[in-house]
Amino acid sequence: MSDDLTHHYSQILSILGEDTKRGGLVDTPKRAAKAMQFLTNGYQKNLSDVVNGAIFEADTDEMVVIQNIEYYSLCEHHILPFIGQCHIAYLPKGKVLGLSKFARIVDMYARRLQIQEGLTKQIADAVQEVTGAAGVGVIMEGKHMCMTMRGVQKQNSSMVTSVMLGAMRKSDATRNEFLRLIGK
Ligand SMILES: [Zn+2]
Repeated sequence: MSDDLTHHYSQILSILGEDTKRGGLVDTPKRAAKAMQFLTNGYQKNLSDVVNGAIFEADTDEMVVIQNIEYYSLCEHHILPFIGQCHIAYLPKGKVLGLSKFARIVDMYARRLQIQEGLTKQIADAVQEVTGAAGVGVIMEGKHMCMTMRGVQKQNSSMVTSVMLGAMRKSDATRNEFLRLIGK
């Protein structure tokens, strides 16, 4: 796959009018291919490998919040970056998930071509699936390069998406607690 990608990046550079033989560009197709493979390595991962059994018995039912998980994704419409912060809350029902796993779940889905709305939903569904929680909430903030570098070129626009499942959806008080805890 890497050689194929390198070849195609070289063609893209030629089509754009570049001289692919010039010094600074000699290894660019290879580097771009490697970078793109890294940025989309979420396709090579699945939820059970990422969680890797880090699910623990716990008799708490109090809300757990993990905030400011940074993410880097690529929009599926322009293959341009969108980056931001993800906040996750869940209401455990006998099981808690190892802390670092939330970041790994976010990365697995972010490192695919996405729209922010879909990414938010996939993360919420994954947390729900592995924890069996009474409720899950995910809020994502994102800055989209396809808005800032091209198109309407709005430098300060950002997008907020949220998905609330179970008790997080049904109860205003619970949802408000989440928002208060993340300072919204
Ligand atoms: Zn886009």
